[in-house]
Amino acid sequence: MRRKSICFGMLLLTGTVTGPAIAQNRNMQQTNATPATTQNPLLAKWEGPYGGVPPFDKVKVPAFKQALEQAMEENLAEVERIAANPEPARFSNTIEAMERTGQTLDRVRTIYDIWSSTMNTAEFQKVEEEMEPKLAAFSDKIIQNERLFKRIEAVYNLREREKLSPEQQRLAWRYYTNFVRAGASLDAAAKKELAGINQQLATLFTRFSQNVLHDEMTDTVELGDAADLAGLPQSLRDAAAAAAKSRKSGAPYVITNTRSSVDPFLTYSARRDLREKVWKMFVSRGDKGGAHDNNALITQILQLRAQRAKLLGYPTHAHWRLENSMAKTPERAMELMEAMWRPAVARVKEEVADMQALADKEGANIRIEPWDYRYYAEKVRKEKYDLDQNEVKEYLQLDKLREGMFWVAGELFNFSFTPVNNVPVYHPDVKVWEVKNKTTGAHVGLWYFDAYAREGKRSGAWMNAYRNQERLSGNITTIVSNNSNFIKGNPGEPVLISWDDAQTLFHEFGHALHGLASNVTYPSLSGTAVVRDYVEFPSQLLEHWLSTPEVLQQFALHYKTGRPIPQSLVDKIEKAGTFNQGFATTEYLASALIDMKLHLAGDQSIDPDKFERETLTALGMPSEIVMRHRTPQFLHVFSSDGYSAGYYSYLWADVLTADAWGAFSEGGGAYDRQVAEKLIRHIFSTGNTIDPAEAYRSFRGRDAKIEALMKKRGFPAK
Ligand SMILES: [Zn+2]
Repeated sequence: MRRKSICFGMLLLTGTVTGPAIAQNRNMQQTNATPATTQNPLLAKWEGPYGGVPPFDKVKVPAFKQALEQAMEENLAEVERIAANPEPARFSNTIEAMERTGQTLDRVRTIYDIWSSTMNTAEFQKVEEEMEPKLAAFSDKIIQNERLFKRIEAVYNLREREKLSPEQQRLAWRYYTNFVRAGASLDAAAKKELAGINQQLATLFTRFSQNVLHDEMTDTVELGDAADLAGLPQSLRDAAAAAAKSRKSGAPYVITNTRSSVDPFLTYSARRDLREKVWKMFVSRGDKGGAHDNNALITQILQLRAQRAKLLGYPTHAHWRLENSMAKTPERAMELMEAMWRPAVARVKEEVADMQALADKEGANIRIEPWDYRYYAEKVRKEKYDLDQNEVKEYLQLDKLREGMFWVAGELFNFSFTPVNNVPVYHPDVKVWEVKNKTTGAHVGLWYFDAYAREGKRSGAWMNAYRNQERLSGNITTIVSNNSNFIKGNPGEPVLISWDDAQTLFHEFGHALHGLASNVTYPSLSGTAVVRDYVEFPSQLLEHWLSTPEVLQQFALHYKTGRPIPQSLVDKIEKAGTFNQGFATTEYLASALIDMKLHLAGDQSIDPDKFERETLTALGMPSEIVMRHRTPQFLHVFSSDGYSAGYYSYLWADVLTADAWGAFSEGGGAYDRQVAEKLIRHIFSTGNTIDPAEAYRSFRGRDAKIEALMKKRGFPAK
């Protein structure tokens, strides 16, 4: 019953959430007959150093099915023993007992999820298609176990009389509300319907993701002669050549259909026709008609979600999803989004005017279109702030910045990082570090880093917990990973990344630290297992340390001369800090608003393209910008329930982030030990053991205010 937290770049996805279901699963029965657990290495306990590590060297795709089925069966048997216990329900024999269940499935599922997101192949996709509905049915079997729910309910009702600790009370509350929210108190007919919906959704989510992945893996724009490369810096040319090689393309250069390849091209290519072509390829993912089009799937997903919300007693899917969030209601989330929308759009108008003026001056004879935005924004940045992103990039070596993150973690968290070579990895690019307490040398956890893009790996960046910290079954330490899609350069040469990518690097590392700093008893309250609109707060906060002079002077070193980035360039970066915030905020908000509005729209049959077009027109979306994630490729929202009606979370959490950074800047600065200590005590170490609003108040002494965020983005305060 544990939830894996994964962050997708500027958005975080929670894999697998529970779907309700019943289902007589024949295949599950059949696995009874399959022989010995030990023959399938996926089922074995993790062995080796550090309390055991994932056996990545023993993974074979055909083994997933049997491992998942056997592990589900084992988990159901464990749960049934708890449900059938003749003793009266108590915290220890019910909730705590539940926390000990599902360990085998957790291990199998962890590796299965890693394959799904980073090692995906046609062979694996077949497994997913078969297993996703079964996993949904499995979750429902537990949720709908009536005897189990009665026991959970009894513990919940008695939680105060049982003299439980605050953490235990919260865990009991969480179990109870999770079960109720997933339909545990419905009648038999409604439960059956709910289970059916969840299984259908699981299938649709899988197909949606696979369609996006298909377009990302298949579509490319090929570049031929030198004229096609106009404007592209050497690093991009190298990356495009490497992509052509690995894809065995006939062309010498290839622009692939992922953000890490497309955005830089749109920023630098002087060829407007090619920019348009690349832009259209990217925004058409999942929206091209034919076998891999997502529109019909979206209509079905939205309808099923609306039906499910009704069954569960909520007006809409959005109301259901937000009930346990910090925002609590869609209205409050909308209020924040709307407060930001107007100043953001107003800023876009100014940005476009600057770009248009520059284009006119150059005699370009164009009107700014979405495929021109990044290109001209870059030119304006150079002109207005004398800031050249490429010049900055020469100081941003991936390896050095990673050392910088480690250093920050040492200063704030008292962690040290040592590379280890004695654990298996699933791909040679993956590197592993041991995290220790700097003072005592005590083992804290492991950090896996899967840095580079490759075929079969989904785009974006995210964090994943392979194992959660807990103390219920001994002193269990965590294993976390960061995943990104940097383009590998030539062998032996340093990988240079953009300022934005460097921020994302720190962001994901913030999620990792949230896992590593966890100090709780119960596994399902551990680390990043917090509500969606809170989980992006620690990660966004960590982004701030990238631009501290301490990091820049020590780690932003020129890849040729080794000299630190000059102060004059840092000043320019700072001065340009709010540059292009109209664009960034608007492209994000457009996606967040569409997400929320789609899920407030009830169970009408929605044509996604039409809905998107009409809603954006009504909002006054500037025609020069496209949503950061258009509906047919909106993985946060349609690859699982994870971020559905939840894309606003980044903004919500950024209110906290900007306000929390104030505690440092008003105090002794970024490395103020006392503030850092409070931050760890109240925020990073507590997981989901306390209410997030309360945790924030304990850290800051008050609730967060929106003013700091307005200032951070350069918008006028209301
Ligand atoms: Zn994140």
